[in-house]
Amino acid sequence: MAEYDYLLIGAGPAVAAASGAIRSKDSVGNIGILGAEPEAPYQRPPLSKGLWLGKDKEADLALRSAEDWAALNVDLLLGDPVIRLDPQQRLVETISGKMHTYQKALLAMGGRARQFDLPKELQERVFTLRSLEDYRRLHTRATAGGEVAVIGGGFLGAELAAALSQQANLQVFYAVSGAGPLASLLPDVLQEKINARYRAAGVRLETRKKLSRLRANDTRLILDFEEGHMASCDFLVYAIGMEANIGLAERAGLKLANGGVAVDAQLCSSDSHIWVAGDLATYPDPVWGTPIRLEHWDNAEVTGHAAGLAMVGAASAFAHQSLFYSDLYEFGFEAIGNCQNQMECRTALSPDGAQAVVYYCENHQVHGVLLWNVWGKVDSARQLIAARTDPGSDAWANALREW
Ligand SMILES: Cc1cc2nc3c(=O)[nH]c(=O)nc-3n(C[C@H](O)[C@H](O)[C@H](O)COP(=O)(O)OP(=O)(O)OC[C@H]3O[C@@H](n4cnc5c(N)ncnc54)[C@H](O)[C@@H]3O)c2cc1C
Repeated sequence: MAEYDYLLIGAGPAVAAASGAIRSKDSVGNIGILGAEPEAPYQRPPLSKGLWLGKDKEADLALRSAEDWAALNVDLLLGDPVIRLDPQQRLVETISGKMHTYQKALLAMGGRARQFDLPKELQERVFTLRSLEDYRRLHTRATAGGEVAVIGGGFLGAELAAALSQQANLQVFYAVSGAGPLASLLPDVLQEKINARYRAAGVRLETRKKLSRLRANDTRLILDFEEGHMASCDFLVYAIGMEANIGLAERAGLKLANGGVAVDAQLCSSDSHIWVAGDLATYPDPVWGTPIRLEHWDNAEVTGHAAGLAMVGAASAFAHQSLFYSDLYEFGFEAIGNCQNQMECRTALSPDGAQAVVYYCENHQVHGVLLWNVWGKVDSARQLIAARTDPGSDAWANALREW
């Protein structure tokens, strides 16, 4: 049985950041990382963007080189998922039967792709995307060409439909349940632009269509939609978001909230020896105090770092408001705060229509900002939200635009 001062469960960006933060303050405590995947922590965002477009290479995805991991003096125990957490004995057990004890533990197991309930014989033709292994499987199939259906109007579906539409020998049918890709985020004026861009790229975009059933004939998958619409394809990517991996924490009796594990402003869970970070953590919003759980890269790194510092007793309350970002064709954006298009949206569009700043307002305060092809303004947007700016004041209106 191995005994660790710090045992970090999950091997993603949150754990990578936490291990660096711990080591920066404690050069002697022993650190173990337990990961389900065979890879050391790597970047996920390129799996739906840069890897398809030749901007990134698999060889460059690792978050640290083998030498950097060695220098950090961490035990990387990979390909062996944790199946049991016992907070009373401060012990975890992995699927291979190994036991590890800890003084302090971090849970950062991220999440898994939501699945469509499928008969077994169709599973070979249906894909989801969360891991490098998923990417490799989908890439192999996509390279063979044909017609792919992408289902899902969130970030993953939008990015994948855009990336796949730029592959040789592939036709893309893309169905979303809302008014277009990223419909819960975009105001109408940007929605129209983005829908037009997919269609210009040759994507057969169908809006307000909800998949209800999948079946197959000898050669094709048949898609039935709730609205009575029917379509067919050679293979399908189901990209309807993720579910946080709460199982271990739930069975261990930790308090849950918002689909994740509830933590305080120091990212500590209802057990005082267990911290939580990344996609799994539900923490008090640094500005509004309400519980939030985010599924974004910056959030994983920043909460991981903060949790690491808290575990060595070096943290103050977590106060960073994370950004999120995406790239679709030539459009790129960064956003911060609560950005939902059913809030009051005030959109400033550049005269050429290429750039925009969207302010998401509620109760006479700016709660979120979307910077559409506008760069280097995230900190100003953060300040605008933290200052609880009244959107009726003059100060806010020109603060972030570049034109
Ligand atoms: C294809 C894709 C593209 C994305 N693009 C963007 C983007 O453009 N912008 C953005 O902001 N965000 C993006 N994200 C989201 C971002 O990658 C996640 O928010 C981030 O990876 C979360 O980090 P994490 O450390 O919490 O969890 P993860 O990165 O999910 O890492 C958790 C790790 O824990 C492992 N694990 C799970 N269960 C166990 C267990 N029982 N025992 C041990 N290990 C376990 C998992 O296998 C995984 O390796 C993207 C995500 C995906 C999948």
